Amino acid sequence: MKYTGRISIMVIYVVVSASFKISDYLELGYVPIYEFILSAIWIYPAWLCGLYFDKYRYYAQKLQKTEKELNELLEKRLEESEQRFKSLFVHHSEPIFTFNLDQKLIEANPAAENLLGFTINEFREKEWASIIDPEDLDRYKEHYLDAIEGKSQELTVSMIHKDGDKRVITIKIIPIIIDDQCIGIYEIAKDITESIVAEEMLRRSDKLAVIGQLAAGVAHEIRNPLTIVKGFIQIIESDIDRNYQELMLSELDRINQIVSELLVLSKPQVIKYEIKDIENILNSIISFLESQANLKDIQINLQFDNQMPFIKCEENQLKQVFINLIKNAMEAMPDGGEITVKATTNHNQMISIQVIDEGIGIEEDKIPKLLEPFYTTKEDGTGLGLMVCQRIIEQHSGTLNITSQMNKGTTVEVCLPI
Ligand code: ADP
Ligand code: MG
Repeated sequence: MKYTGRISIMVIYVVVSASFKISDYLELGYVPIYEFILSAIWIYPAWLCGLYFDKYRYYAQKLQKTEKELNELLEKRLEESEQRFKSLFVHHSEPIFTFNLDQKLIEANPAAENLLGFTINEFREKEWASIIDPEDLDRYKEHYLDAIEGKSQELTVSMIHKDGDKRVITIKIIPIIIDDQCIGIYEIAKDITESIVAEEMLRRSDKLAVIGQLAAGVAHEIRNPLTIVKGFIQIIESDIDRNYQELMLSELDRINQIVSELLVLSKPQVIKYEIKDIENILNSIISFLESQANLKDIQINLQFDNQMPFIKCEENQLKQVFINLIKNAMEAMPDGGEITVKATTNHNQMISIQVIDEGIGIEEDKIPKLLEPFYTTKEDGTGLGLMVCQRIIEQHSGTLNITSQMNKGTTVEVCLPI
């Protein structure tokens, strides 16, 4: 505590009482004794005044200091809690967006940028509604309005990725409430496309397995009556024209061959790599697919280099690959045309088999997508064909390469080691 108050008041007191005494002395020629007595009596209250003044100043300053410290502490706490929140926002692995009540994006965390490929700035420039699938938009808006009323919401919508793909996103819509007033919205998103695709894949592969089993059963059932019909046709002799009989027998043989092929393809197989002749494999597939091709006005040509080497492969899997490729080629030629299957050997290391069509072709930027599961442009397509082909060829240490020109045609080249 400082003595400023007491010292100043004592100085003032001494000056004032001295001035009284001087004026008395000038007036009377002496200083009366009671002046000294009064001075002695008043000195104590004057000292007390100075003391209280000093005390008051001391406590006032102390209070001020404490108040300042308290403010600093509060500010620090506030900043810390802001940083805590910010850290949660920035480092959260799930995308978080904040919006104002007019659905304008205010902020988004880095995870949000990965969600749909847009940067935060691109998000800000976009209408949020424009990246939600129009089919889901009304439902989304309803939930948004309910959230503004103060009730958190959760829904699943399709959203459009920057690259044009649809992603399935679950969104939690949470109101930001300050002083009992909703001032905006948090949205926490989660991309569940992968798990939906996995589920779908399971469902489809299950379906394919069932279809395969059914086909195997049906094929087996067809073969028995075929054998009987064939036997009877052989023993009927004179009544029917010999030419008709031969035609019927050869057609029956064809049916038999197709059914056998179906039986082999649809049955689950133990994978067994064997040395095989690629010529035989391709020939059998083409006779299997020829009738379908004829129906669509498509001609399948097979071209071989003179001496095709043998390859080590799992025959049924390779058949599946070429059936898929030739079927795709046929489906790309709705108006008919020619498919060339060209097998060549190069440098004695690899053989190359090209399936060349004259179909609608594929846009260049779509080519990398073809090998992804479920990418299809066909109404009843599975989008699994090329993916399966790629897997099988990889397992054979080979490569699969697609080149295409719009409206000119597509070439799929399979290279396999000799
Ligand atoms: P799916 O045939 O069931 O659609 P695929 O995996 O076999 O599945 O093929 C995926 C997609 O690749 C097809 O939907 C088609 O758009 C495209 N495609 C494949 N082969 C060809 C081809 N020869 N010509 C044009 N497009 C093709
Ligand atoms: Mg296909």
